[in-house]
Amino acid sequence: MSQILLTNLRIINPFGDVEFIENGSIEISDGSIVSVGAELTDSAPDIQKIDMGGKTVLPGMINAHTHLYSSLALGMPPSQNNPVNFTEILKQVWWKLDRALDEDSTRASFQVGLLNALKNGVTTLVDHHSSQNFIDGSTRQLVELADAFGIRIATAFETSDRNGDDTFASGLDENLTAIHEFANREHIHPMLGLHASFTLSDKSLKAIGKELENLTGTGIHIHVAEDLADERDAKMKGYHSVIQRLDKFNLLNEHSLIIHGIHMEQTDIDLILKRGAQLVHCPTSNANNRVGNLSPLVVRKLNAGLGTDGMQSNMLKEAKEGTLIRSASLPGGVESVNYLQLLFQNNRTIAEKMFNQKLGKIESGYPADLVFYDYCPVTELNDTNWQGHALFGFESPTDVMTRGLFRIKNGKLAGIDENGIFNNAQSESRRLWQSMKNVT
Ligand SMILES: [Zn+2]
Repeated sequence: MSQILLTNLRIINPFGDVEFIENGSIEISDGSIVSVGAELTDSAPDIQKIDMGGKTVLPGMINAHTHLYSSLALGMPPSQNNPVNFTEILKQVWWKLDRALDEDSTRASFQVGLLNALKNGVTTLVDHHSSQNFIDGSTRQLVELADAFGIRIATAFETSDRNGDDTFASGLDENLTAIHEFANREHIHPMLGLHASFTLSDKSLKAIGKELENLTGTGIHIHVAEDLADERDAKMKGYHSVIQRLDKFNLLNEHSLIIHGIHMEQTDIDLILKRGAQLVHCPTSNANNRVGNLSPLVVRKLNAGLGTDGMQSNMLKEAKEGTLIRSASLPGGVESVNYLQLLFQNNRTIAEKMFNQKLGKIESGYPADLVFYDYCPVTELNDTNWQGHALFGFESPTDVMTRGLFRIKNGKLAGIDENGIFNNAQSESRRLWQSMKNVT
């Protein structure tokens, strides 16, 4: 049995029982936290003691919606035709990228995305994958890589009709294979991925609904009402809204994950609450795509989680930028959204339901997923103002532990060839961008 005592820590346990401990210690046994306190003196004599030198520790963070497959898009040449709306951005950029990805470039995308997540203190990822010409085995590839990084992962392959019936069938099959293969594996939560209502026919939704009927403990993971085009399409198909269309095919349950939801109506929100589905908000992506800003009322009513939608790996940055994007359009004195609450409280609720275990707190009984910052506050840091420091002061962590193992220690990765991954990503990105030119 491995036992570790981490000492000399400033512990921040957001929205937990005790939120702040100065000069604290954390005792870990077999990958789980067994005790947390100001001074732990009664630990076993043969315990491994590690002095953390006054670092500040947060719980491992959860990204509730991302696309690791877009990791090689950074700096990608812009589209030849200047896309002028959301659908054109999808057609000219993302749907070309996801058709150009093959097995090697997908692996490189996963590796670099997982590596950047870990380096930014993300220990649980909810991924939504799309490599439309490398479908079979893509989820297994992701699961194996995530395991090597010690990252907990929720998988979903993006089914869509946009590449024809055979590709839709392969996508659905990839989800079902993963659900059967990984549903009982610890640290993995396979979901049923759908791109969005507007790229799926009634026939396809019916086929997905029929499969979902026979599954337990999982749900769909889908973009909803990100742009008005999605809602208009549902209306054109004879439905009141996207949410009501999904519900018609029995696709909404307590394990469903709804992403964006910017253009939903009150009746949709009521239906989501009734079915027990979860909403995830991705503020920087919404700003980047110019699709609108999610209503603060919807955020509060549905206890929305926080995702990056592939825009970045650092959740504290996503929270900070979400705050600033919202502030930019608010008059003085109007209450905003607490993005740290989305990150540390709502994401925790979402992930605990998915993985069916305690997650996201520094308390006894939780997995030892911990993120350490060598943070020297220039002003006082205490139990009343840690949120300001977390949002505007913290940069990148120096140490990251998952399940009681240091994956990064003093900035150095354990058992991961960082240079090899980045060199491979460089050459794979060049090859991928070249391949995209041939995708019509
Ligand atoms: Zn997305």
